[in-house]
Amino acid sequence: MASKLPVIVVGAGLGGAAAALGLARKGVSVRLIEEAPELGVIGYGIQLGPNVFPMFRALGVEQAVLAKSHFPPDVLMLDALSGEQVSRIDTGPAFRRRFGDPYVAIHRVDLHKCLLDACAAEPNIEILPATALKQFEDMGDHVVASTKDGRVMQGRALIGCDGLGSVARRWMVGEEKPTPIGYVAHRTIVPMADAPAVARRKEVILWGGPGFHIVQYPLRDETLFNIVAVFKTENLYERADESAYRAVLTETYASAHPTMLAMLAMMDLKRRWVLADRAPIRKWSKGRVALLGDAAHPTLQSYAQGACMAIEDAVVLARCVELGGDDFHAAFARYEKERVLRTARVTLESRSLWEFYHLGGIARDVRNEAERAKTDDDMYRCVAWLYDGVSLPETL
Ligand SMILES: Cc1cc2nc3c(=O)[nH]c(=O)nc-3n(C[C@H](O)[C@H](O)[C@H](O)COP(=O)(O)OP(=O)(O)OC[C@H]3O[C@@H](n4cnc5c(N)ncnc54)[C@H](O)[C@@H]3O)c2cc1C
Repeated sequence: MASKLPVIVVGAGLGGAAAALGLARKGVSVRLIEEAPELGVIGYGIQLGPNVFPMFRALGVEQAVLAKSHFPPDVLMLDALSGEQVSRIDTGPAFRRRFGDPYVAIHRVDLHKCLLDACAAEPNIEILPATALKQFEDMGDHVVASTKDGRVMQGRALIGCDGLGSVARRWMVGEEKPTPIGYVAHRTIVPMADAPAVARRKEVILWGGPGFHIVQYPLRDETLFNIVAVFKTENLYERADESAYRAVLTETYASAHPTMLAMLAMMDLKRRWVLADRAPIRKWSKGRVALLGDAAHPTLQSYAQGACMAIEDAVVLARCVELGGDDFHAAFARYEKERVLRTARVTLESRSLWEFYHLGGIARDVRNEAERAKTDDDMYRCVAWLYDGVSLPETL
């Protein structure tokens, strides 16, 4: 009976949409449930490393993603106080030769649409918006899930792609809160024509300062300009009006470079993200249930890899399910084995890189001098563990 049921994928974010698509491409029926009434409508810019492109190829969406991508010539880190260049990764032709795929920036709505359109075209995927998982049970040979509005559904297995506050994770590892790191983010997209002239550049640029940073890059054929302002604050959860947020920003960024101040003047401060990760864990699966993406391994944004890891998870998981047939226990165990150390390394190295971005005093001078001495090849070697990507398992 169980083999006729769909796999229930909980959460249609980037990870859930990729997981549903990956499974459907392997002939597995999926029910994709999402608590939001509309799918894929919210988003800002997102960067994607070359490691995720083989995953897009496996999912059959590579060309659609490339068509919507911006290709920065470099990824730069600039010193937020002096404006000097701290480091540079050349992301032009030499990068593509080295890693086989590009480094891109894309509007998250566009990326999400590529995945969701492909899901909608798959007869094997049923998409249910406005469907929030409340709880579920693993019955041994199938799972039973109930929704917040009282619906009950059965599945062959359940994959929790429900993000940082995951219900599936709570079931798996118990109640534990994410770790806020004391920083918040504000994100804004403006028409490129409205961006400060000094800031209109093709590169992905991170301006790193003591206790704050800004990330900037263009999107959609350079018609849009994406800005993310991140800073340390003691009033993490304090909800304030825009003028109060503005006052905090003015104080925090007082010593920042004039180009940063020009960008901050454009920030939309309505929404604030409290930044958090979780310490890596080894168990993301139990019986017929597995976690994926932020539900399994939420990470800081330092490497801009959270979504890339979720999409890698999705393709590896689909491959393991293909190899496992109806043995979800074995398939999920193998998936976990393939993914735990890689994603834990991203989480842990992201924490170190976070410190590195925000150094002040003499540590900042040491960092800047050491980085200046690095060659293009040195920079490629530093990121090779990440950008060289993953290979898919041949056997369980
Ligand atoms: C400021 C910032 C910048 C970032 N920049 C980058 C970047 O440049 N590159 C990159 O790769 N990553 C980046 N990330 C990380 C990336 O956004 C996340 O890692 C990624 O979105 C995780 O995808 P996910 O599908 O696992 O989770 P989510 O995107 O959180 O999706 C979870 C989905 O589950 C749904 N859901 C939740 N609970 C339930 C429920 N009970 N029932 C049903 N549905 C539910 C939610 O509505 C949501 O749609 C950034 C993050 C932030 C905060």
